[in-house]
Amino acid sequence: MAEIQNTDLVVIGGGPGGYAAAFYAADSGMNVTLVDTETNPGGVCLYRGCIPSKALLHVAKLINEAKHAASWGVRFAEPEIDIDTLREFKDKVVNKLTGGLGQLSGARSIRSIQGWAEFRDNRTLHIRMHDGGEVELGFRHAILATGSRPAVIPGLPVDSPRVMDSTAALDLPDIPGRLLVVGGGYIGLELGTVYAALGSKVTVVEMTDGLLPGADRDLVTQLKKKLDASFEAILLNTGVVSAKDTGGEVEVTLRGPTGESVAHFDRILVSVGRKPNTAGFGLERTRVVVNERGFVVVDPQRRTGEEHIFAIGDITGDPMLAHKASHEARVAVDAIAGKKSVFEPYAIPAVVFTDPEIAWAGLTETEAKAQGRKVEVGRFPWAASGRATTLDRFDGVTKVLVDPESERLLGIGIAGPGAGELIAEGVLALEMGATVHDLALTIHPHPTLSETLMEAAEAWSGHATHLYRPKRPS
Ligand code: FAD
Repeated sequence: MAEIQNTDLVVIGGGPGGYAAAFYAADSGMNVTLVDTETNPGGVCLYRGCIPSKALLHVAKLINEAKHAASWGVRFAEPEIDIDTLREFKDKVVNKLTGGLGQLSGARSIRSIQGWAEFRDNRTLHIRMHDGGEVELGFRHAILATGSRPAVIPGLPVDSPRVMDSTAALDLPDIPGRLLVVGGGYIGLELGTVYAALGSKVTVVEMTDGLLPGADRDLVTQLKKKLDASFEAILLNTGVVSAKDTGGEVEVTLRGPTGESVAHFDRILVSVGRKPNTAGFGLERTRVVVNERGFVVVDPQRRTGEEHIFAIGDITGDPMLAHKASHEARVAVDAIAGKKSVFEPYAIPAVVFTDPEIAWAGLTETEAKAQGRKVEVGRFPWAASGRATTLDRFDGVTKVLVDPESERLLGIGIAGPGAGELIAEGVLALEMGATVHDLALTIHPHPTLSETLMEAAEAWSGHATHLYRPKRPS
């Protein structure tokens, strides 16, 4: 017999969308219930996404820097990788953060239920709890934040332990001698970077003609040069036709520009995108509308086809990123509280945490071209940066996209170590409606990589101190 409970607001899913919504709603005085499959909040991002991948990328960075140090006259021995200790480090990071979120949730008196929620109708959820119990939960408002899962390629032997998705790859089962990464998007390249640093020979296959489809090519070029050296091979315009676990290895048939070929790997990582979790929990018993790609259709306040049910995060569509989910959370909670909220960010930053990192915000040159929109570009190569020179890292570029009429900044793109941290200044500039002159006239600390933003803005007018370019007529 299910226990009957009621709540003002139920949040389904405890990822960066769901827990941000639950915390903000509780802080705003609502009575909140948070349902998730895990004991503590965190979702994909903390348990099997952003956080464990970045902990491992930190280790990869250290290994690569230690190698690089030989050219400065500092030689370290080849690293000895203790995979069990490395896994423990990664798990410790995850447990510390998710445990902390559990405490923050408790401190806010959020009722936390570990279990699987399913709609009975548009006012009631049935929750099958982890401990075997059942709850029938009536709610006034609901926020759906059920996230996403890895997409699969039909025909690959998914039951083979040698064929991994990102979750399995983050579990670090071993360090495969030969790893095939299927998909040249950010998840494949980040995890490929980790495994290459640990010692795997990494091959990437990508269906399109370039890595990181959608990102500007001048940024990707910086990364591609480095990956060409650290990966075994990068095969573009190439797809997997079939794969067979032969016991000791996986035999893969690839189809590329020169036809079909067979190659052998110890493991495969399939990273070909993510699918929203919008099936299997009774949405069809509500008026919530799901589009042909499986995403929940929402209005600018993140309200679904049901007046009192909202949706946020990966299930509402691209970009499927943690910070976008957390921002939507605030918009939805404010809407529930009757405030005038709207989801209309000018810029949602995207960061690829490879080496070099790639980051962009606002309009990209690729988008401008597709839209037929005229933009002007100020570009500053890191070879001219004092700070980049002290780091012995010239593989970077910072650029600003400028509206020729208003001279307002439209977009920022950065490739280089630390680009993910640097982009935040660009996001603020874009959100504040800054012009290219605002950025150029802002005093930046020397010597830092942040100066490359200022110099890219200066370069737009032909007046960058550390670059000589023909001047723009005043
Ligand atoms: P999720 O984090 O997906 O959480 C959804 C939760 O809902 C899950 O815990 C799920 O179990 C639960 N759930 C689903 N259905 C039910 C149900 N019926 N009942 C109860 N619980 C349910 N993003 C970044 O911004 N930066 C990064 O660096 C980054 N790196 C990534 C690296 C990897 C390897 C991966 C896989 C993803 C990465 N992402 C990154 C993406 C990021 O993880 C997602 O965008 C983010 O987690 C989405 O948050 P969310 O709140 O929508 O849902």
